[in-house]
Amino acid sequence: MSAVNRQIRLARRPVGEVGPEDWEHVSEPAAAPGEGQFAGRTRFISLDPAMRGWLDDRPSYLPPVGLGEVMRAGSVVEVTESNHPGFGIGDLVVGSFGVQEHVVSDGRGALRIDPSAAPASTFLGALGMPGMTAYFGLLDVGALQEGETVVVSGAAGAVGTLVGQIAKAKGCRVVGIAGGAEKCALLTGELGFDAAIDYRSEDVKKALRTHAPDGIDVYFDNVGGDILDAALAQLAMRARVVVCGAISQYNSTTGVQGPSNYLSLLVRRARMEGFVVFDYAPRFAEAARELGAWIAAGRITVLEHVVRGTLDDFPQTLQMLFRGENTGKLVLELV
Ligand code: NAP
Repeated sequence: MSAVNRQIRLARRPVGEVGPEDWEHVSEPAAAPGEGQFAGRTRFISLDPAMRGWLDDRPSYLPPVGLGEVMRAGSVVEVTESNHPGFGIGDLVVGSFGVQEHVVSDGRGALRIDPSAAPASTFLGALGMPGMTAYFGLLDVGALQEGETVVVSGAAGAVGTLVGQIAKAKGCRVVGIAGGAEKCALLTGELGFDAAIDYRSEDVKKALRTHAPDGIDVYFDNVGGDILDAALAQLAMRARVVVCGAISQYNSTTGVQGPSNYLSLLVRRARMEGFVVFDYAPRFAEAARELGAWIAAGRITVLEHVVRGTLDDFPQTLQMLFRGENTGKLVLELV
């Protein structure tokens, strides 16, 4: 008797925050791999803010998830059966396999990981997409130079914790913006940031004047909205504003709040540039090597927030991102 493949499919397009009623929990027989394919069992599923955007029916860098389709997600699977020469039983493989318990793949876009190099979940975090995002966003788009002042929002999250630590490794002064005293203490303690601002209890604009008195050289924006505006008001000459994400806007039902302080780009001769990490795919190996070396040398601490549960826990785990309930990379481990 073949195994049952449980899946989370998109039942309807959410308005505002994603709710349990937006998903359909489906069971179907797990498929067997054909010629040139392998089958795998899902071990870890990545939770990403971008998932919210993929649910909206509007043009973006990837097509929207279709109604009735399995939810798109990065995951790590363990190969259980293989007719593919590149993947053997027991291999751990990372790829965009979706929110389901069993997958069949022809190996395209899939990468066999070396479990002796790092825990499997880290290939969804520091050595995966968020790591690549932090690395290329900061060093390539942000064109970071030693000795500069870097401010990063969403600082206690998957991308933010890495941005701050890479900037420290590059000899910069780093200020993180995050929600809550506990997250801020983590940033300035274990992660070695120079200062942290709790946007829930502090006046961010004022705090930036205190912690970046000579101005911000690189502002790495993960949240958009009022925090972006506060950072724009404190730019140094020739500053770079890296538009990585805008999580404060993803659930908006009234449209995206644009920056009102954008004229400081003119006054400070600054630039603001967005990017999509997938464009850097040909250079991922380069980033993984350098990030791996920093991790091995103890210069970067990897923070993961692993929720252990079943596929049914996916909807509420996703909501944690929008409520600030994760610290570091949020992953669902199927147990
Ligand atoms: P994450 O930071 O681990 O998790 C999201 C965090 O955002 C939450 O923990 C929460 O932390 C914060 N947040 C939630 N709602 C907020 C609000 N209204 N205002 C301010 N902060 C809020 O997520 P991640 O995976 O590292 O992603 C960070 C950003 O990078 C996202 O915007 C994502 O879309 C973007 N991204 C872009 C690319 C790209 O290619 N451009 C690739 C990957 C990720 P607090 O407790 O601090 O509020």
